[in-house]
Amino acid sequence: MHNAFIETLCKTDELKIALSQVDPANVKAHQFLCDMLNPLYAKWTTSQLAARNGVSPSALADIWRRYNLSHTMIMLAKHAPKVAEHMAKEAQYIPVVCQRCDGWGKISKTEFVEGEQAQRLEKDCPHCGGTGVYNSPGSNDARKLMYSTLGLTQNKLVVDFNLNPPAPESIIDEIERATLEPVFERIE
Ligand SMILES: [Zn+2]
Repeated sequence: MHNAFIETLCKTDELKIALSQVDPANVKAHQFLCDMLNPLYAKWTTSQLAARNGVSPSALADIWRRYNLSHTMIMLAKHAPKVAEHMAKEAQYIPVVCQRCDGWGKISKTEFVEGEQAQRLEKDCPHCGGTGVYNSPGSNDARKLMYSTLGLTQNKLVVDFNLNPPAPESIIDEIERATLEPVFERIE
């Protein structure tokens, strides 16, 4: 039985990988994969094997969706440490050149006193204290997200990555439940 939806859903090799990650309790999907790997069915199409094992197009689409979500979460987790490092750096104070004195650390003015020569007066820049640089506050959004991730706010975003990671949907639900505008608690 030819099914255009199944045949165009993904490549056969990709489907084999997706099926290999399905819970073993899903007997139909497991048997479907066994048939795909069996040389006896080498000439059968994917939709024929799906029909033979009672795997509907919607069930197959769900398996494919779950596989891709899982794959996406793995990719995100792989790059998360680097993103976290950038976030932490964005949250820190950043030394910038003082715009008041243009980095010289001094400001000056010329005073004219009647009957005398003009006097050039100089003093330390009051904005940077004579250093020429000052610390600019880091990204407020990065700070909020950092405190939230560390559980230092009321509405904390804590994802429990243990040896048996939750299904991708539950992680996404958890992220969606966490507010993006956490309320800060006083830290003693
Ligand atoms: Zn200055």
